Amino acid sequence: MSDSPILTNAGKLREEYRNMIDKTVDAVLSSFSDKSAFSGIDPYTLRKNIGALGLIDEKGLGFDETLRMTRNEIMPHLLRTWSTSYMPHLHSPATLESIAAELIIATFNNSMDSWDQSPAATEVEVSVIRNLARLFGYGENADGCFTSGGSQSNFSAITAIRDAFLKKQYGWDAKKHGLISDFAKLRLYTSEISHFSMDKSCHMLGLGYDAVRKIPVDARCRVDLDEFERMVGSDVRSGLIPFCAVATIGTTDFGSIDDVAGMKRICDKYSMFLHADAAYGSGLILSRKHRDRIGNLGLCDSITVDFHKMFLLPISCSAVLVKDSSLLECFELHADYLNREEDEEDGYINLVGKSMQTTRRFDALKVFMAFKSRGFEGFSKIIDTAVDNAAYFYSRLRKDSSFEAPVEPEISSVVFRLDAEDNVNRRIRRSLMEKGIVIGQTVMGGKVMLKFTLLNPNLTHDHIDKLIEMIKKEGGAV
Ligand SMILES: *Cc1c(COP(=O)(O)O)cnc(C)c1O
Repeated sequence: MSDSPILTNAGKLREEYRNMIDKTVDAVLSSFSDKSAFSGIDPYTLRKNIGALGLIDEKGLGFDETLRMTRNEIMPHLLRTWSTSYMPHLHSPATLESIAAELIIATFNNSMDSWDQSPAATEVEVSVIRNLARLFGYGENADGCFTSGGSQSNFSAITAIRDAFLKKQYGWDAKKHGLISDFAKLRLYTSEISHFSMDKSCHMLGLGYDAVRKIPVDARCRVDLDEFERMVGSDVRSGLIPFCAVATIGTTDFGSIDDVAGMKRICDKYSMFLHADAAYGSGLILSRKHRDRIGNLGLCDSITVDFHKMFLLPISCSAVLVKDSSLLECFELHADYLNREEDEEDGYINLVGKSMQTTRRFDALKVFMAFKSRGFEGFSKIIDTAVDNAAYFYSRLRKDSSFEAPVEPEISSVVFRLDAEDNVNRRIRRSLMEKGIVIGQTVMGGKVMLKFTLLNPNLTHDHIDKLIEMIKKEGGAV
């Protein structure tokens, strides 16, 4: 290894950079030979082996030896997200061009907090956000920001909404004064199967889990609107203060999509804000066939979009969009060393003023490069394949009396169980995992359920047929 630890214009370092990347590519490609999603190693052995590697020694091993160690001890047991045997979570393989984008992001290492740390990167993020806002049905006054994931996007949106609500209803500046004295009466409404980041957000916002009102769902796992209206009405009568509702556009387990127009009507009646958690379902926006399933997101005050789920971009990559740019003012704060007001008056945009993070990754480049590379046509194929596979899998399960599959998929998740005891279903997931096939498990109506989350565009009906046979065999149903 040369003495300079960083890339410079010196010919020797340029060669070394290329060499390291080439060797890393070779190591990655050699570990692609495995077809299964996971080596099947048990957690105790893996912990012992990895613990034995230690961390830092007096003298470094050099890159080649360190890469060899990583290749031999760590990479074989990494989860192989590209495998068609991997389907437990909203966790996708990464598209080729977005991996190339990661190399650019890491090499330039720009930071999104201020223009002087990320000139072109800032302008790319601003432009990507503007285009995304239009895509999701917002007007020219919209804004947004990239975040570390759906949890942070939801937290950002709920923070912004809490502040905007208190300002609008009480003329209260929460940024300066904190919560109103009646804070324990604030309520947020979301379905009983919405993501747990609602509870976490309300805790971190000083409102507590008690602020989250869980609305029962209908047979298709969507917010029951009558129940929602009844709950809000009765809460208002008992002196509580509804401030926000969250529609889930693709629930994590079922992919069910709440009725945005119906929820918006109730929110308007009670002067509440409406946030859309579209971490999962936002992918449908690029589907030619299924786009209308999420057609009216533009009605919501804010939207969470995860690009590291249906869009197949590397972790992390998410954005929060807001219909009215003033919502993001809650994150604005001027520091003399970073984002001077005088610079912003001269057109230098400092994105730190829209984010809860300071130093922040240039994730917008992945969206830019992937969207430009594939276009609507390319992405539509990816998303439609996922939706089609889920529909196919569901129809196969419905025709087979060995299975129960209670909810018809709207996106690409199918929750089901072998018609057998909970323990049999649990055992199926464990024994498939030992064979390198990783599927999901959840609970519905008190019963253990299995789950396929089908995001991999290389998955075919044939793979699905084989998996069904395997599950039946594992569970003793054939
Ligand atoms: C995945 C998911 C989240 C959390 O997003 P992260 O990117 O994992 O932080 C939030 N809401 C829904 C509906 C999700 O599916």
